[in-house]
Amino acid sequence: MDKTPTIGVLTSGGDAPGMNAAIRAVTREAICNGMKVKAIYHGYQGLIDGEVKEFQTQDVSGIIQRGGTIIKSARCAEFQTPEGRKKAYKTLQREKIDALIVIGGDGTFTGARNFSMEYDIPIIGLPGTIDNDLWGTDATIGYDTALNTITDCIDKLRDTGASHDRIFLVEVMGRDAGFLTLNAAIAGGCEAAIIPERAPVPEQIEEAIKRGQRKSKNSSIILVQEHAFEGGANKVAQLIEQVHPEYSTRVTVLGHLQRGGSPTASDRILASRMGVAAIQALLDGQRNVMVGIQNDEITLVPLNKAIQQKKDIKEDSWHAIATLSL
Ligand code: ATP
Repeated sequence: MDKTPTIGVLTSGGDAPGMNAAIRAVTREAICNGMKVKAIYHGYQGLIDGEVKEFQTQDVSGIIQRGGTIIKSARCAEFQTPEGRKKAYKTLQREKIDALIVIGGDGTFTGARNFSMEYDIPIIGLPGTIDNDLWGTDATIGYDTALNTITDCIDKLRDTGASHDRIFLVEVMGRDAGFLTLNAAIAGGCEAAIIPERAPVPEQIEEAIKRGQRKSKNSSIILVQEHAFEGGANKVAQLIEQVHPEYSTRVTVLGHLQRGGSPTASDRILASRMGVAAIQALLDGQRNVMVGIQNDEITLVPLNKAIQQKKDIKEDSWHAIATLSL
């Protein structure tokens, strides 16, 4: 890197609360270390289209408490093509950007990995996704906030559920991972969590319903991860009503509510720590790694590993209090 390196920063894929805290930390730490910062708007699409603005520290003031991402995010099919990545590289050359910090999930890192294989540009990834599905970090930016949002929704549903003797089926996000669903079920005292890691077949759900552990209760809340069961929460509700026509079910799909809101203190701190570590990693000559935090220590994980390794939910006996015990 030359004497005054210029760092590009972008957010990509699904937005996650805490991304702003990461942008702020990256900008402040870079400027403190004599670097220039250029924000790239709308993720990889903005990199292709040249949507770039130089940031000063005042550009990131008053944003740590805000959800979403002030530099916008996007899903960009063009970046998946060599032609698209070529255009993106031209933007980097034109803007004299020497290194890139990308904040996003595994799709974002796959794009970054492919880009770095074709062009000589150091890239550091920051794990920004509510799904917590990235290997190499205990938590991702946005996960804690989303978990708290879901728990809050469950608490509210319980009030109305108990007043009407109903079974609530709540559909939760997570892509291929059940972290949000399982842990929200535990935090919300739910009767069951249906997660992709232990995806049940319809017969298992029917069997569990027949066991009728609900007999002594006047309301139940069951969380269903969006991709754990074909047909989602609506299908589970149908199965319950087939087996027990006397039960009244209601389905709530939490949807994009789960992405919104002011980040929790925990997410702000995580994102701030990771943002600073990303700049330090570049100063140390690191490239094509993801910043993670494991056992409270900063770790640098090759992007390839973060993408390819599957982060499993550990088999803990106490999880049984929430998983499929309708
Ligand atoms: P989230 O987990 O919140 O959905 P994500 O980063 O996984 O975030 P994706 O939409 O999967 O979100 O990916 C973000 C962007 O990364 C895509 O829109 C695309 O521009 C880029 N990307 C994904 N896969 C590839 C790929 N194989 N090659 C190049 N770019 C890719």
